[in-house]
Amino acid sequence: MKAGELEEPTNFNPSEGDDAQFAVTKLAETNRRLKATTKRRKIKVEEMIEGSYDESLSEYLPDPTDDETQSIISEVINENSLTGEARLTQYSCDVEATVDTVEVPIVIERGAARPPPVNSDYLPLPWRGRLGYACLNTYLRSAKTPIFSSRTCRMASIIEHRHPLRDPSQPEHPVKNRPDKSKKARKELGDKFVQDLGLANARDIIKMLKWNDKYGIKFLRLSSEMFPFASHLQHGYRLAPFASELLAEVGKVAAELGHRLTTHPGQFTQLGSPRKEVIDAAIRDLEYHDEMLTLLRLPEQQDRDAVMILHMGGVYGDKAATLDRFRKNYATLSPSIKARLVLENDDVSWSVHDLLPICEELNIPLVLDYHHHNIVFDSTQCREGTFDISQPELQERIAATWKCKGITQKMHYSEPCPGAVTPRDRRKHSPRVATLPPCPPDMDLMIEAKDKEQAVFELMRNFKLPGFEKINDMVPYERDDEPRLPVQLSRKKQKAAAHFKRKRAVSDSISDHNGASAGGDEQCQQVPGKEVPLDEVAMGGPQNRVYWPPGREDWLRPLKRGAKVPNIVETD
Ligand SMILES: [Zn+2]
Repeated sequence: MKAGELEEPTNFNPSEGDDAQFAVTKLAETNRRLKATTKRRKIKVEEMIEGSYDESLSEYLPDPTDDETQSIISEVINENSLTGEARLTQYSCDVEATVDTVEVPIVIERGAARPPPVNSDYLPLPWRGRLGYACLNTYLRSAKTPIFSSRTCRMASIIEHRHPLRDPSQPEHPVKNRPDKSKKARKELGDKFVQDLGLANARDIIKMLKWNDKYGIKFLRLSSEMFPFASHLQHGYRLAPFASELLAEVGKVAAELGHRLTTHPGQFTQLGSPRKEVIDAAIRDLEYHDEMLTLLRLPEQQDRDAVMILHMGGVYGDKAATLDRFRKNYATLSPSIKARLVLENDDVSWSVHDLLPICEELNIPLVLDYHHHNIVFDSTQCREGTFDISQPELQERIAATWKCKGITQKMHYSEPCPGAVTPRDRRKHSPRVATLPPCPPDMDLMIEAKDKEQAVFELMRNFKLPGFEKINDMVPYERDDEPRLPVQLSRKKQKAAAHFKRKRAVSDSISDHNGASAGGDEQCQQVPGKEVPLDEVAMGGPQNRVYWPPGREDWLRPLKRGAKVPNIVETD
């Protein structure tokens, strides 16, 4: 029996001395404590997750009770504990499946006693490269009609939606029009349900690209969640033909705007694992990402630049053997996947110096992540910081892995939170970044920060990078570019409004001759929302109020009446 299944004892009186009941109470108490611990750890784990996890979407995450997900999660956790690491991934937000059973080890090597980093003083100015963000736009996500590309669902929901809706002629409603289980289930209906989520996600990419372009951003990482469960063993599906037309439209917009699009398959997608299930799942996932990018039908150079970033993953107790498995599995990949696959150094096991030789050997571009490098580097070859890693000889070797494939080079940049000492704390990305890394000034740079496009804006503002003038930086929230709902009147006011309408109809006919209106009851009139053309919804309005200063998320949305103004001081 799982702790979560325990029933609360009723009418229990400990003085009765009923052993069985006492045991049940004890268990219930343990259960309660477990839940509290789980909650605490959930927060911790979420803090560790870098990049694209969106807390508000947790309810839509894939079903963790699914066997395949479970098996892969336990695989990765086992490997992580083998290497003494506490790396959990986006699935970690499913706390019941992971954190309850795994004690997260605290790694303290190279903590406070490590030598200070040696950083380069070079600033890549004047900046000519593209700055990008990953997957989610905080401004658009909080719009009144949210614009985002990671709508997903639980697996149970797909199965439920195999049944037709109670009234199939009407749109689904969470209460009034749900799938009717008394009707015959059809697999196509469930597939259509999940595929429609993907289409809605892809449609929003077009809006995100146009928004980015308006504010001088030309680089976006597409969410791997765009087509939920597409690479799943049982529920997976091909994107063609149902998404072909829409993805081509997305690609057309990206092509017109000169926008770079990339992807970063999740942590579970590893090609060095000794387990066949993991490799099979990884290949399915790479095929999904490759199909998504290929269906964009981008012009030649942009298509080549649409890479899939992968980590080597676990070490499995033996780096050389893992690299051998990677070689073997890489050889089986399709030419299209090989053309897109690039490797990134990680912050757990694989340093730049570990990966560069295999990248050179197999003709795979290497993504340099500065933040990861500062946590995991080969201390026999270089020191922590941006100085050693930026030395021309090393940079030329990295650049060559891109040049020989004709792909525009890109790098990753993020910064740890102030005050972080242990590797575990230092892995956490700060919401914004204070500076640019010492990369070439024409580099495509993915800014991996929690505040997403705002972190890019911050850099644009700090260094007056091209486009900084497009952001209105000093005026607080006042969105006038969102559709407004008609004002809801109370029943009493509705009556008054109806009365007023009748009265006005009469007085209008009288006053038609002298040009004066009776009026006088203005508060009863509905104030119509400002008409916003569909293309302009959430675009920032004519004054471009799209920037919010650090800690002022309320600039994204108006505060609810009576709500306290959040404290600007960082609380974590
Ligand atoms: Zn990275």
